[in-house]
Amino acid sequence: MKKDIKSMLLTQLKDEFSAMGLPSYRAGQVYSWLHIKKVDEFAQMSNIPKDLRSELENCFEIYSCSIERKQVSAVDSTVKYLFRLHDGELVESVIMKYKYGYTVCVSTQAGCKMGCAFCASTVGGFRRHLTPSEILSQLYTAEKDLDITVSHIVLMGMGEPLDNYDNVMRFIELITNADGHNISMRNISLSTCGIVPRIYDLLEKKLQLTLSISLHAPFDELRSQIMPVNKTYHIDELIAACRKYAKDSSRRISFEYAMLAGVNDTDECAKTLAAKLKGMLCHVNLIPVNEVAESPFHPSSPQRVKEFTQILEKNGINTTVRRKLGSDIDASCGQLRLRHKD
Ligand code: SAH
Repeated sequence: MKKDIKSMLLTQLKDEFSAMGLPSYRAGQVYSWLHIKKVDEFAQMSNIPKDLRSELENCFEIYSCSIERKQVSAVDSTVKYLFRLHDGELVESVIMKYKYGYTVCVSTQAGCKMGCAFCASTVGGFRRHLTPSEILSQLYTAEKDLDITVSHIVLMGMGEPLDNYDNVMRFIELITNADGHNISMRNISLSTCGIVPRIYDLLEKKLQLTLSISLHAPFDELRSQIMPVNKTYHIDELIAACRKYAKDSSRRISFEYAMLAGVNDTDECAKTLAAKLKGMLCHVNLIPVNEVAESPFHPSSPQRVKEFTQILEKNGINTTVRRKLGSDIDASCGQLRLRHKD
């Protein structure tokens, strides 16, 4: 088995190289080819002697991904990629352009096992975890393809990042590494459906990233219906973990709330949501749900979203309504992969 070189930290690469009798500066050179110049082949590492390149090729694999499909929004130049991994699995990434720069939304798993009723990633079931190098490759391949540098990352593509905890943590370590891409920790958002023990683990790491919680309902009964994870980790447990996270990290938590017409958009929902979040350093991000052919939900009307917002605001909860990007290209997670398979 060849080793996955792009998932290695520079210190690990140095150890590997030293065990092979190679000087440590060679590890630095290779690391920079992988993470700054983002090459996919040892043959492209022009300052590495040919013999050494073939030796490296025998020991290591550079896992990358190929562009299976690419869609560019005519409305707002959002770009959606469907990437093929080395074993044929398909994952999606999205590049969004904001005033402050480019944001990439990456997938952390092929498929997902969380089973949220409104989410397209659920439909095909869980395939497998992504390695750190495969999460990096989505970003690197998109950057090379578009000739851009991404400044912000959201872990909001396919999959549940906290269900692939170690690989996601390694990805974050690599992407924020000063010898690599060097993205600011503050520019990373990690979104979870609420795997409570992992939220406490994350808190212990004291990372300056933004935690997003996919809440989508303020009552256990309703939340368990649309998000099975809630049967294991109830709302109050989740909110308690969030309160501790916000307090200890002084980082504002973002609660995602997909507005499902007639399901979770009542006044009562808004009031209960506000009561549960009261006093926490947080804000609520309302998202009119994207319709997925396989699921029965429809977005709440703009009027309902407005009224819901007003109740939250009146009760002291900061609320934003998410601007919809790339609506003409199936830019919400799992949708492109789903259609591709049809
Ligand atoms: N598993 C993680 C991250 C991936 S999903 C999580 O649950 O947070 C990214 C976000 O998109 C989540 O907030 C998810 O609930 C939301 N989402 C999924 N399907 C959606 C849809 N059809 N419309 C709107 N938001 C959706």
